[in-house]
Amino acid sequence: CGIVGYVGSQNPNGRPLEVVLEGLRRLEYRGYDSAGIAITGTEDALTSVAKKSGKLANLVEALDASPLPAGTAAIGHTRWATHGGPTDGNAHPHVVGELAVIHNGIIENFVQLKAALLADGAEFQSETDTEVVAHLLHDAHKELGDLTAAMLSVVRRLHGTFTLLAVHSGEPDTVVGARHDSPLVVGLGEGENFLGSDVAAFIAHTKEALELGQDQVVTITPTTVEVVDFDGNPVEPRRFTVDWDA
Ligand code: GLU
Repeated sequence: CGIVGYVGSQNPNGRPLEVVLEGLRRLEYRGYDSAGIAITGTEDALTSVAKKSGKLANLVEALDASPLPAGTAAIGHTRWATHGGPTDGNAHPHVVGELAVIHNGIIENFVQLKAALLADGAEFQSETDTEVVAHLLHDAHKELGDLTAAMLSVVRRLHGTFTLLAVHSGEPDTVVGARHDSPLVVGLGEGENFLGSDVAAFIAHTKEALELGQDQVVTITPTTVEVVDFDGNPVEPRRFTVDWDA
């Protein structure tokens, strides 16, 4: 329901976590039943996740009790459950190996995708429609070795509505997003970049933004933003300045 992504080289210690929690707080008005965060680019080169049903305060409490390691990139989500109850296990991010993904919307063909993945021996941890995307992205990344290429190959197999953000510890300076019938905006920083389901996600940090069009994939690093359509052709998104105060 609310989506935030961050990657930065500036003050990497703790900043990804701070930015994402701040963004999720500002998206609280949308309503949600669970919240979660994944951090990658940590010292141990892993992707770490914390997620909790209920209010954001529950997640913050869990993070206080057992902090995540500092990293270079993070994604955060507040969930409005559509498939699978509002439990800790069904909260996003969903993780397979070193790949973590968050999702707004509904994957209409998840039953067929899940059946095929189960037949291939995949093990599922949740009842969500979203978890199929985690498996597909993980497998595609293994095959293609690139998160943007993996996202492009997976979005073509999905029916429904989605904003997706993904991170992989193999690409610690990258967050990849995709949108189809669901919003996604980019916030432009200095030595850092942001993604959000709404400009509220990053308004505390930058007012310079890019609006993604329908059926586009975006790849952000601390210093670059690249946008392509679902066929992989580069596109120039509309740039704008947010004209309200944080
Ligand atoms: N369909 C997904 C789920 O139920 C995402 C819901 C949302 O947009 O928050 O987990």
